[in-house]
Amino acid sequence: MIMFVVQRNTTTMNLLNFIEQFPDEESCKLKYKEFRDKTGVTCSVCGCKEHYWKKDKWQYECKSCAKRTTLRSGTVMHGSQLPFRYWFIAIHLLTSTKKSFSALELQRQLGHSYYEPIWVMLHKLREVMGRRDSEYELSGIIELDEGFFTTIKTEEKDKPLKRGRGSQKKSKVLVMVESVPLEGKTTKKGKPRKVGHLKMLVINDLKAKTITHMVNDNVSKSAVIDSDHSTSYVNLKDVVKDHKPVVIPKDKVSEMLPWVHLAISNAKRLLLDVHHDVRPQYLQGYLNEFCYKYNRRYFGEKLFDRLLIACVSYKNEF
Ligand SMILES: [Zn+2]
Repeated sequence: MIMFVVQRNTTTMNLLNFIEQFPDEESCKLKYKEFRDKTGVTCSVCGCKEHYWKKDKWQYECKSCAKRTTLRSGTVMHGSQLPFRYWFIAIHLLTSTKKSFSALELQRQLGHSYYEPIWVMLHKLREVMGRRDSEYELSGIIELDEGFFTTIKTEEKDKPLKRGRGSQKKSKVLVMVESVPLEGKTTKKGKPRKVGHLKMLVINDLKAKTITHMVNDNVSKSAVIDSDHSTSYVNLKDVVKDHKPVVIPKDKVSEMLPWVHLAISNAKRLLLDVHHDVRPQYLQGYLNEFCYKYNRRYFGEKLFDRLLIACVSYKNEF
């Protein structure tokens, strides 16, 4: 029997609400199955979408070739040994907290013996967030600039970073945000603008080719881009409707490109406060989370379900 729990009408799901809804492993698995049934299961052997549910095994069975699929298989939990409830707690924390939290903090809170699986879980969730946002195309008027984030380079690859090792580097990030000028008086901070969707993308270099390619992939052809005057942007006019580069004096940046700079400084503060030493290859993950939450800041309690659906429908590519 599938359990349906009515969510309370609060702006964000609070901790008591979460515990009430997901008191144990069973309730998490049932919710996961409910969402998996909704999004559909595809057989990895024959592509059939019709399945029986083998209740005793907690597995789907393909109606045409009898291939079994576990509840986790092909989802973000593919290959994970962690309890469903750990994942649910992580999703709850990621979607209900304004800032973020480190893998170390979550490990402590869960009382789990090992750091690495917790760290991997959080990074997978951040990857899901990034993939969801990559489906969105920015449009309208867009502020664009680069941000330089301090990261730490180390020799050991693909291992969580131990603190205090490695050399600093500046990672380059292309930042784009929809920003519509509003009617109203120009203030000290410039013309008021309404902010929309945000994207932050780690790039290897600032070559015109790299930036043009990124903009082409993430921005609507009908968009108009505001930026400073840089040789990196010379070809932007080829991929959008209009590009309006302006020579911006250093002290006028927050006036001319207000939202893009606010986003950069907020993201930097978050990295400093919560995550400390970030390795270049994991920076995108943290930015994914920052943008995902920023772009859904009015979703309230719906955010938990949204991220859970994204996790369930995620095809296994890890
Ligand atoms: Zn099949």
